[in-house]
Amino acid sequence: MSAIYDRVALIGLGLIAGSMARAMREKGLAREIVGHARSAETRATAAEIGLVDRVFETAAEAVAGADLVVLAVPVGAMGDVAAEIAPHLAPGATVTDVGSVKQAVVQAVAPHLPDGVHFIPGHPLAGTEHSGPRSGFASLFQNRWWLFTPTEGCDPLALERLQDLVRRFGAKTERMDAAHHDLVLAVTSHTPHLIAYTMVGVADHLKRVTESEVVEYSAAGFRDFTRIAASDPTMWRDVFLQNKDAVLDILGRFTEELFVLQRAIRMGDGQHLFDYFTRTRAIRRGIIEAGQDTAAPDFGRSQPGPGEG
Ligand code: NAP
Repeated sequence: MSAIYDRVALIGLGLIAGSMARAMREKGLAREIVGHARSAETRATAAEIGLVDRVFETAAEAVAGADLVVLAVPVGAMGDVAAEIAPHLAPGATVTDVGSVKQAVVQAVAPHLPDGVHFIPGHPLAGTEHSGPRSGFASLFQNRWWLFTPTEGCDPLALERLQDLVRRFGAKTERMDAAHHDLVLAVTSHTPHLIAYTMVGVADHLKRVTESEVVEYSAAGFRDFTRIAASDPTMWRDVFLQNKDAVLDILGRFTEELFVLQRAIRMGDGQHLFDYFTRTRAIRRGIIEAGQDTAAPDFGRSQPGPGEG
């Protein structure tokens, strides 16, 4: 298979960048892959396991001569990284990001980038609760969506080339407006994460149930919550701070629904509960039919998990 880019620079060497590096290697999609991470420890690990061909101490050095630059750092760090690399980008290079929030990233990154550099914001709907340079794997993006939110005037050839890359990872691509992306993700990912964090927090505070009972008798629902609530704290702090409006909107709606269900339980309105759960069951069926999860009893959680973030 022929290479799509000559030199790809990965800024941030965690789960997503590491999975991209492995997928590019496996399929020969880049002639050279270079990278940078903030800490000396992560850079040393990346070099030791050969995650990329060369590791640089600074992001500025890493992006020099790259025809694709991928920003794979927490969304709150994107702006500073963009400011640092901007003077060092090669003319005609494409810069993309993999951040879980799009409007805030566009606002933070776009003003720094020079004319002649193509900025194409993106977001793979794929992840696990693991992070760091050792956590990635080449098949992470298989059959997952990779959403792009190109701004007006985006170069169609640069976009097609980038979409071609991620399709070769096995991903499906779609373009949408950044504000719409943020609302969709607030519903499908960000608010559910917040609910999981809250539920695990509730169990933690409930001293009448001992810690050993929570662990010992952990049933499927709670177990799934704990898996989600084990996700990287930095990444998720940034997601909520950067997608504030959409998350608060969905959280408001969630709270209203919760009160309705709470009232139905208090009033013994079984019909309401039954009808509600019948509707939600159909949504679950739709997700399985769309190939976005498995109907296996453990939800396939022994396999790499479906899209997070
Ligand atoms: P991760 O495994 O925690 O890796 C983050 C990487 O960014 C680390 O290598 C870290 O370096 C580096 N980094 C942090 N701040 C930096 C800075 N200021 N300058 C340079 N490097 C910096 O995270 P991830 O899961 O790959 O997430 C990366 C991005 O992908 C985030 O924007 C996230 O929203 C998005 N995303 C995540 C998922 C998911 O489920 N995990 C899914 C889709 C999209 P050190 O190790 O040295 O700190």
